[in-house]
Amino acid sequence: MIATATITPTSDFIAREDAWGAHSYHPLDLVIAEAKGAWVTDLEGHRYLDCLSAYSAVNQGHCHPRLLRVMIEQAARVTLTSRAFRNDQLGGFCEELAHYCGMEMVLPMNTGAEAVETAIKAARRWGYRTKGIADGEAQIIAFEHNFHGRTTTLVGFSSEPAYRAQFGPFAPGFVLVPFGDIEAVRRAMTGNTCAVLFEPIQCEAGVLMPPAGFVRELAALCAERNVLLMADEIQTGLGRTGARFACDHESVTPDVYILGKALSGGFYPVSAVVSRREVLGVFDPGSHGSTFGGNPLGCAVAREALRIVHDEQLVARSAREGTWLLAQLRTLEHPAIKAVRGRGLMCAIELHVPARPYCEALQQRGVLCKETHGTVIRLSPPLVVSREDLAWAMEQLRAVFAA
Ligand SMILES: *Cc1c(COP(=O)(O)O)cnc(C)c1O
Repeated sequence: MIATATITPTSDFIAREDAWGAHSYHPLDLVIAEAKGAWVTDLEGHRYLDCLSAYSAVNQGHCHPRLLRVMIEQAARVTLTSRAFRNDQLGGFCEELAHYCGMEMVLPMNTGAEAVETAIKAARRWGYRTKGIADGEAQIIAFEHNFHGRTTTLVGFSSEPAYRAQFGPFAPGFVLVPFGDIEAVRRAMTGNTCAVLFEPIQCEAGVLMPPAGFVRELAALCAERNVLLMADEIQTGLGRTGARFACDHESVTPDVYILGKALSGGFYPVSAVVSRREVLGVFDPGSHGSTFGGNPLGCAVAREALRIVHDEQLVARSAREGTWLLAQLRTLEHPAIKAVRGRGLMCAIELHVPARPYCEALQQRGVLCKETHGTVIRLSPPLVVSREDLAWAMEQLRAVFAA
């Protein structure tokens, strides 16, 4: 008997993507056609609660009506000027984001990886000019299991073989130490250290949290040794962990914030480095740039995205709903579950076994999440998610983890 596979719109889209697109991802096989708030709908009309939020890029919820309006209005006025000329959105964006962060200067880029690259350039130049490090000798300390993006420089100091295998040669100037180990950071510091680059919670590595007090100790150590503390809050920032920034949990203001993802609420890639004048002042005309960075469309969308975080009290919502969700997750009992952890609406279930089959089982029940680091199910719904929706997601989790 010959098996004849039925061609459906879903299988057709998947086949075309697999045939013509490079296979750099291993997505769950649903084809999303629409989304609103915390919910997405696939081609076949099935609805799913989005518990990934595009890696926290849609904290404000999918297709937020205010963002949609600003996007359309701005797109009808002017979208791109390049920085060769000024536009009427950039100044306001920089001012508002600097205020939000309690900082003095902003350098806008597009993707997160570009913002991290920009922060690295700023730190090195600051090291040469302000700290007197000999040119070409600057060192940056980063952490094992980091995720800062996919450029060759960034994967060059990743400890994840899948991210770096056969992409070398890599840029020198980075030192890795175990995450959360303050003594290792202290030992790694030399007179050539210009910065420590870190994620306050390592989300991609499996929502790994450093020991309590680590961020504060890191800030104190950096201050003592005249080293810049650069917080990559691309995924943890703007309310995700139940605070404005994850650094706020330890009342730490880093020297540099690196932001992206939810900065534009999922409409358009906008990232930024936010810091003091002393740091971002190292850039002079010609020293750095981006054709799309600081464009009026991105700036207008990001300004509105920030206002939504404020107006809808997404930080407080994340703290409140995240506390509830974590308590619920802790009641799950199943031999496959190794640990449950989280902060705000950045929650995770770590398993003893591969997480993929559990993500697929949840997908069948209308809950979308994606395994990270093989054995971890990350739960990070849009911050606008309702308690009712979370309670429903818990029912699905209970069914999947019925011992
Ligand atoms: C997603 C992410 C990045 C990279 O952002 P892109 O927009 O994908 O380049 C960097 N750092 C962290 C912590 C991230 O979560």
